[in-house]
Amino acid sequence: MLQQQTLAQAVTFEGPGLHYGKSCHLTLAPAPQGYGKQFCRLDQSEQGFIPALAEYGHQTLLSTELRSGSQSVRTVEHLLAALYAFGVDNCRIELDGPEVPILDGSSKPYAEALLKTGLVTQDQLRKTIKIKTPLTVSEEDRFVAVFPDNVFRITYGIDFPVPEIGVQWFSLIVTPETFTEEISPARTFTLLEQIEVLREKGLIQGGSLDCALVCSKAGWVNTPLWPDEPVRHKILDLLGDLSLIGFPVVGHFVAYKAGHDLHRRMAQKLRE
Ligand SMILES: [Zn+2]
Repeated sequence: MLQQQTLAQAVTFEGPGLHYGKSCHLTLAPAPQGYGKQFCRLDQSEQGFIPALAEYGHQTLLSTELRSGSQSVRTVEHLLAALYAFGVDNCRIELDGPEVPILDGSSKPYAEALLKTGLVTQDQLRKTIKIKTPLTVSEEDRFVAVFPDNVFRITYGIDFPVPEIGVQWFSLIVTPETFTEEISPARTFTLLEQIEVLREKGLIQGGSLDCALVCSKAGWVNTPLWPDEPVRHKILDLLGDLSLIGFPVVGHFVAYKAGHDLHRRMAQKLRE
């Protein structure tokens, strides 16, 4: 698809955010060509837009937060992953709270809504970044790298100190179809031992077994959809953060034990 795309019609979601636990409404609305993806906080007296681009990334502690002036929006990655995988170039994202609803902890509700609503093609051509030379961002043994390829491909590896997760690798060519089937249902996951620590820090106030996969040293607390659901979710998070490049990329991303910080640094590097 060489031309830009937007949603055929608006679609609305409602629910609490993962970290603040505050319920809000989120509307994805069609937007004109060249608009990109921008968040608009309807609950703020001063109306402003927060572009979904890497330079507006504010902090990345357990989720990606964007900020522009006094306006911010948190936990944008699962929503942005679906918009990016579906090739949505232009979208106005309205919400009346500080954080995108976590829903079931995955991107599945967003993917289903995009499939149902459908996309329309616009006149302007889309710009695409084609990787010509490898690039890497790293921190000790953790990294995100990108290599030349003829398709948009992601390979991800994780290593968690619990037997049920351990070392997992997953690789796929990203298309709306592969994203919907293999990645979008993968939920946020956490280790049981971390939950109290995070709660005491004021994080994951909206978390529950309805929106996260929880693993303890003794095994899974709730049942995964696939044994490798955690690494699939990491691909989902990476896609959401790569969407902050603002353009589709043709190249092969390889990540190992990375997180939102390295994901966003790669997005920033590619924007530069
Ligand atoms: Zn996530």
